[in-house]
Amino acid sequence: MVFRWIISTGAALLFVACSGVSDKTDTRAAQCDVSILVLGVAQDGGKPQIANPDDPAWVDPSLQRQATSLALIDRRNDKTQRWLFEATPYIKEQLQRLDVTAPTDRKIGIDGIFLTHAHIGHYVGLMMLGHESAGAQNIITYAMPRMADFLNENGPWNQLVKYHNILLAIMSEGETETLTENLSVTPFLVPHRQEFSEVAGYQIQGPEKSVLFIPDIDSWEDWDKEGVRIEDKIAKVDIAYLDATFFANGEIPGRDMSGFPHPFVSHSMERFANLPPDEKAKIRFIHMNHTNPLHDPDSKERKAVLKAGFNIAEEGEELCL
Ligand SMILES: [Zn+2]
Ligand SMILES: [Zn+2]
Repeated sequence: MVFRWIISTGAALLFVACSGVSDKTDTRAAQCDVSILVLGVAQDGGKPQIANPDDPAWVDPSLQRQATSLALIDRRNDKTQRWLFEATPYIKEQLQRLDVTAPTDRKIGIDGIFLTHAHIGHYVGLMMLGHESAGAQNIITYAMPRMADFLNENGPWNQLVKYHNILLAIMSEGETETLTENLSVTPFLVPHRQEFSEVAGYQIQGPEKSVLFIPDIDSWEDWDKEGVRIEDKIAKVDIAYLDATFFANGEIPGRDMSGFPHPFVSHSMERFANLPPDEKAKIRFIHMNHTNPLHDPDSKERKAVLKAGFNIAEEGEELCL
């Protein structure tokens, strides 16, 4: 048993068996039993961003993007099971998208929410589970210890705990939680500015494929200093959703971004330039700031990323695990 439950529950984790095969670039609706569905690809504030009235996304909904979130789906049982990675400010729309792609007749029908950290794009959606909205019951909310303390000790989040809208499940770094048969999640710590919580990334292991999820990190080199090489982590999985918050310095007019706590995509492309093509193709950039030209389907930056052999996450893409 990996978790120390703050409030114990009879929540049962079901299991079944399946297979699923998909080319890494085949992101059409998956005809497989276990899959990852991308619900959002933007940085915390989404696109368009508040107070950016000139963003064409305000008048063209096809350009709008929601904060980064993944859903993990297991259809191997009568009762489709679904887990969210992150509870974003867009959780209402994202759960609706999940309901369309992987319907359930259960109210809410979320078997768990895995949180990475206490920056707004990653957890404030929990508020929609409370009495004022969904009135959810016992949604298992997986968090690292400081993140769990933050939710447990601060309003309004502690009301969700008190009223049992959510059940906090405290994780430990490197300890694997088995969700169903051949489906598990392992958290690890990531260097990223940590005001209210530590920052987690996840490795999701499916029946046939595995996923790395690192939406926010200060720099790959900070990790090197701790003896963790991102290339080694990529080598162990089939799909890697990696922080692509900013494309390059200069993206935000008038600001020196060299100290911004994210690896620029331009830097990641250089760092990963000598990886074999199969390794590059695993990388699916995600968590793009509203200023990031990768959002623009016709940008030269987007074309350069794809030409170099990397991929860019798309909302609605579903990959078989
Ligand atoms: Zn973020
Ligand atoms: Zn963050």
